[in-house]
Amino acid sequence: MGFYRTSSAEETMQVAAEIAKTLKPGDVLAFFGDLGAGKTTFIKAIAEEITGIAATAINSPTFQYLNIYQGKHPFYHFDLYRLQGAEDFLTMGFEEMFYQNGICCIEWAERIRDILPPNAISISITHIASNIRTIHLKELS
Ligand code: ADP
Ligand code: MG
Repeated sequence: MGFYRTSSAEETMQVAAEIAKTLKPGDVLAFFGDLGAGKTTFIKAIAEEITGIAATAINSPTFQYLNIYQGKHPFYHFDLYRLQGAEDFLTMGFEEMFYQNGICCIEWAERIRDILPPNAISISITHIASNIRTIHLKELS
């Protein structure tokens, strides 16, 4: 679906803003990549495009798992770094966010790999060198 190589956070955000324009309600984006890869940076730019809220005001919901923003479509930003596993995700009722006609972005999507919706888009970000990242978009399954 797409392969990008960026040389700065700004460039990653430009890529993200372009991709955001192609998103439809109900889309689920599953992000993979180590700490500091650029998942949050990417999602900030998507959120700005979808909600009109400035990217600088979007922060990762590391301690509460989920932030919700209203906009053109509802925007759901998950950070599952601290989640034990998929069972906890289901217990908290988060799965219903996949079916709210919003856009879902999930950091640390591997935590819920087995219950990601089959139509999810996988976005893998790899830290290559100081400011260099590769970004690989593909269908999940
Ligand atoms: P993650 O959410 O994956 O842990 P963050 O987006 O919070 O990562 O952090 C990425 C860090 O790397 C930011 O400080 C960002 O400015 C920096 N950075 C440097 N180069 C890039 C790049 N090409 N793309 C994205 N972020 C980059
Ligand atoms: Mg993050």
